[in-house]
Amino acid sequence: MSLSPSNFENILVMGKSGAGKQPRIDVFTSDFGLKQLSTGNIFRSFMKIFNDAAYEGDINQFYDDKKNGFIEDKEIKKTLGSSIDNSIIDDFLLGLKAHYYVSNGKYVPDSLTNMLFESYFSKSNYKGMVLDGYPRTVAQAEYLLKLIEEKETKIDAIILVENEDEAIIKRTMGRRICPSCGAVFHLEFKPPKDGKLCTKCGTEVILRSDDTEEKLRTRLQEFKDKTMPTIEYLSKKGIPVVKAEGNLPVFTEEAVKKSVVDGLKESGLL
Ligand SMILES: [Zn+2]
Repeated sequence: MSLSPSNFENILVMGKSGAGKQPRIDVFTSDFGLKQLSTGNIFRSFMKIFNDAAYEGDINQFYDDKKNGFIEDKEIKKTLGSSIDNSIIDDFLLGLKAHYYVSNGKYVPDSLTNMLFESYFSKSNYKGMVLDGYPRTVAQAEYLLKLIEEKETKIDAIILVENEDEAIIKRTMGRRICPSCGAVFHLEFKPPKDGKLCTKCGTEVILRSDDTEEKLRTRLQEFKDKTMPTIEYLSKKGIPVVKAEGNLPVFTEEAVKKSVVDGLKESGLL
């Protein structure tokens, strides 16, 4: 079956952290009319709802260590009383939970990630999205497929951006950001002024705290342990996996677009 671009309902872009997913995502948002749905942004937006409410109590009281999870929502609501506006209480609770796991550096349970994801996915009627950072585990993939089936939409393909670990480490370690305006540089490919100053505002650029080699290797290992089995699972369920080379000899917008489009054509999706 061949599809015209406008027929894409949902695309998953997957790959190791630092493999170069964003430029491929950009192809789908600029040329195929899809919108990016990124788990990172979803988490940030829920945590913002929590933070904006300026709750002054201790949120640890809602977590039951024995049960290894949160106490019932209705119990939490009882304790919160009228301190949180009723119109935002459900989103506030999701934000509170996300905040708890992230700020304690704990692994976010799939059940919570699924709920946060669905709350955003539902706003677009479960279609028209490029999913970024979801699903990351087999349990999340099972949830997504169930959702897609219930809502009668579909996942057209997984774009798997491929890149060698060592190439990713080399590229990521060269990345610098401006702490003041957020501009992104690369010591080799997009150097800051005099090797250290932001070309937009002149601030000295820094290495992101997430970009240490140790953290990067942990993320690469997680990809092997959790995300690869997820991709295999989705592939077995019949979702085409389109491979896209992450390390292009010439890195231009056109070359990136071509690599994605060629892959889609080879898989008969275009
Ligand atoms: Zn700057």
